[in-house]
Amino acid sequence: MEMWLGEAQIKDAVMTYKVKETLVTKKTPYQELAIVDTYALGRMLLLDGIVQTSIEDEYVYHEMIAHIPLFTHPNPKKVLVVGGGDGGSIREILKHPSVEKAVLCEIDQVVIDECKRYLPEISCALDDERCEIFIGDGIKYVHEHKNEFDVIIVDSTDPFGAAEGLFGGSFYKEISECLTEDGIFVAQTESPFYLPEVVKRVYNDAKAVFPVTKLFMAGIPTYPSGYWSFTVGSKKLDPEYAEIDNKYDIENLKYYNKRLHKASFVLPQFIEKLTRDGK
Ligand code: SAM
Repeated sequence: MEMWLGEAQIKDAVMTYKVKETLVTKKTPYQELAIVDTYALGRMLLLDGIVQTSIEDEYVYHEMIAHIPLFTHPNPKKVLVVGGGDGGSIREILKHPSVEKAVLCEIDQVVIDECKRYLPEISCALDDERCEIFIGDGIKYVHEHKNEFDVIIVDSTDPFGAAEGLFGGSFYKEISECLTEDGIFVAQTESPFYLPEVVKRVYNDAKAVFPVTKLFMAGIPTYPSGYWSFTVGSKKLDPEYAEIDNKYDIENLKYYNKRLHKASFVLPQFIEKLTRDGK
């Protein structure tokens, strides 16, 4: 019998995947978790029915969310990931030789455990000695750590439930205080095609806090519309004009390169407009 998984992240549009096998389903204290194996995209993590990552396309999201801020910063030593329990961002962060410590602050231990079990290609760096795992709410963690991180990556679920407070002005103010003086942060900020009002609001909230605010894009097949935005807030460094050409290269990346780093900030008209309109 054929089994199809429908993901309705957007109210009136559903993405469907043909399922080979359901590997695990669990109700955690925070969300419903499932890991399924699909024909088109391999194993896939879902939280509350929403696709978080898949073996076949995860590199786009994880390379872009990590390498844009880490190549922008001249000497990133301490990095914080809020969310990101699948471990993909940590794997990419630890490819940078200057990084001495990467803290993962994930609210849900079950996500980490099941990703270690079923998605080892993504979670493989979580046992690295430079990675410290903290189980708890990212909002509280950021509030309790001042002037500590060179780079902060908000690798969260969508802006509902436990992740709601991770999108918005008061959290960005706390992030700014948690960063060092030339610190930079990046967050995944949804589809400008389906959720332009979220992209615009988040951009304006970040702009009210950070001297440099930029939006960049990546093509991610499993996310609604395939067209995904990331918002950067930075105290000094401009990621679009960062001096990256003479920096080291990282071997075997599948999406990020230094030309793309700059090009990803060139926005189509309808997205650029979201960053221009003001509130
Ligand atoms: N790449 C993904 C995406 O955009 O679909 C995000 C993946 S990662 C699995 C998201 C993680 O954020 C989840 O494991 C969730 O438990 C975690 N999370 C949500 N709210 C959080 C909070 N307030 N503090 C820390 N982690 C949180």
